[in-house]
Amino acid sequence: MPGPGFEFLGDEERRNIDQVLENWSLTRYLFDDPEEHSFVRRLERDVEDLFRSGPSIAVNSGTSALATVLAGLGIGPGDEVIVPGYTYVASIGSIGHFGATPVLAEVDRSLTLDPEDVERRITPRTRAVMAVHMLGAPCDMGRLREIADRHGILLIEDAAQACGGSYRGSRLGTIGDAGAYSFNPFKVITCGEGGMAVFRDRTAYARGFAYQDQGWPPLRDNNGAGTGEATFGLNLRMPELSAAVACAQLQRVDTVLAGTRGIRDRLVELIEPHEGMRQRDLNDAEGDCANVVVHTFDSADRAREVAAKLSTKPLVDSGRHYYGNMPQLSGNTSIRYAQGDLPRTDDLLSRSVAISVGVSDAHLGSGFGVGVRSTDEDVARAAEAFNSAVRSAVLA
Ligand SMILES: *Cc1c(COP(=O)(O)O)cnc(C)c1O
Repeated sequence: MPGPGFEFLGDEERRNIDQVLENWSLTRYLFDDPEEHSFVRRLERDVEDLFRSGPSIAVNSGTSALATVLAGLGIGPGDEVIVPGYTYVASIGSIGHFGATPVLAEVDRSLTLDPEDVERRITPRTRAVMAVHMLGAPCDMGRLREIADRHGILLIEDAAQACGGSYRGSRLGTIGDAGAYSFNPFKVITCGEGGMAVFRDRTAYARGFAYQDQGWPPLRDNNGAGTGEATFGLNLRMPELSAAVACAQLQRVDTVLAGTRGIRDRLVELIEPHEGMRQRDLNDAEGDCANVVVHTFDSADRAREVAAKLSTKPLVDSGRHYYGNMPQLSGNTSIRYAQGDLPRTDDLLSRSVAISVGVSDAHLGSGFGVGVRSTDEDVARAAEAFNSAVRSAVLA
């Protein structure tokens, strides 16, 4: 099973879909009064209410949400954006797509952006830092915010893997100048394909809106006369059928997270402590989405051995999430990175093994573990398999 929200798809989603089918209202602009009837519009208002965010835009994927954020913030050629070397390709790719330069930074023991390394990489061309809440866990937003403010640069949150999570009581995605969520099937909640961009500032929101809707002003106001931004924009709009599912899923987000967090607590309780093995640091344990539990070992050999016994891989082998496994980066002449450029990240990922607690994705290195619907017996079995793999690796 892919992600935890997927396991909760049910009657509410179906009821909303039926409502769309009743009058074939397949896109938000078929309504005379989208505020009243459109699921896409409702999703935007619900996100703003539930997450206490600024203005939001529903789009057709998490990648589109990142692009909408970057367009809204006016990131372009000549700009540098600092992004971790451990993230999904889409974070780095979206920056390159706008002609800006992704500057890769190290992760720390939380496996999220290392604030000190971020500060070291700031140059006069740095426009923004993209904090990725990797594997559902919050970045150190306090320090990143402070660094961004001190240097007068923007803070973007890629919350694709962490919808609903929080940092010191604020929802992830709403702390920076803009944030992006994804609703693909591996994420906390899903509608198949979908995403959201949230903004702090109305001007950035209007620019973002224009980008994803062919230059129209927000919500196509102006009685259709819309001058909007002087931009052509693309069409990245979310369809009503997707929004119908996403609306139902969003109402469940805290239930889904209560599920993964409960399972995580039971699992962690059953994992035996071992010399030379520690859980990754969490910048805010309460706000962690608990999609996975990650352990970091004292040696790469030991991590590899434990992972092999569990038929999974250490995180350094996760495809498309580790900069060393992104051929795009070595083949591109303007952006060149290869394994070895981020030694701390290389070292930490080579020593880390993930246990799934709801997100099962071989590319994410979470092929082993339990799901959000797992029983106590399932959890006990997984914990015992992990313990026994560690014991034999430690004794070896
Ligand atoms: C999934 C993901 C994305 C992209 O989301 P899609 O909906 O698949 O386009 C972006 N960033 C991160 C960190 C992700 O995990």
